[in-house]
Amino acid sequence: THFGFRQIPVDEKVRHVADVFHSVAGKYDLMNDLMSGGVHRLWKRITIERSGARPGQCILDIAGGTGDLTRKFARLVGPAGKVILADINDSMLKVGRDKLINGGTAGNVEYVQANAEALPFADNTFDIITIAFGLRNVTDKDAALRSMQRVLKPGGKLMVLEFSKTQNLALTKLYDFYSFNILPQMGKLIANDAESYRYLAESIRMHPDQETLKEMMEAAGLVNCRFENMTGGVVALHTGIKP
Ligand code: SAM
Repeated sequence: THFGFRQIPVDEKVRHVADVFHSVAGKYDLMNDLMSGGVHRLWKRITIERSGARPGQCILDIAGGTGDLTRKFARLVGPAGKVILADINDSMLKVGRDKLINGGTAGNVEYVQANAEALPFADNTFDIITIAFGLRNVTDKDAALRSMQRVLKPGGKLMVLEFSKTQNLALTKLYDFYSFNILPQMGKLIANDAESYRYLAESIRMHPDQETLKEMMEAAGLVNCRFENMTGGVVALHTGIKP
């Protein structure tokens, strides 16, 4: 295993998608702040607020990357609870682990290399599962949603934070210009990697819109599925409950 993470075999196609993140891992947090103008912090804070996380709970942050949500959850669940930061990419996981440990988060966080499509956990394990800006990178999204549903406890909540469809024309035009012109330029300047950021913009456009994702969650066996748009639909937070 790399860096002592538990490792699972991943097929070639999945590995290719995941590899995009090897090249950006070291600069990921900086790029996130620059590209979103810091607004991703607000989106994540709202997600934490909506989670209702309590002391003692067991939480999975899949595609958790550098651990922004994990760090906040670790504080909320306390020493009696547990948070698993899981990601398919060991470079992202290593950056996340180092950041959390250096920031004083320890004791109730575990790090697991895992593919969202086939989660290596027992049925009915988690009170809350979050996947933030991760689902659009997953090849088989329906399989991932089913896998997350399986490992949730009955009554447990899935929260999908993801780019979505902007809700008005002016914003859409501005946003398109930003993501197909400014974003790759920034990627080139800062990370010397325009390609990864072009992939980012494309993956955002390909991602199912609000209603479609909601239907996919229902098809995966979740109930009470709903979504909340943020920043005019640039991002949506979907939630669903395991019956
Ligand atoms: N959740 C973090 C955040 O909000 O800052 C990281 C988001 S980052 C844009 C997307 C993450 O998804 C990457 O760390 C990538 O390695 C991970 N990822 C991509 N495909 C995955 C899969 N099939 N299973 C698990 N993680 C995956």
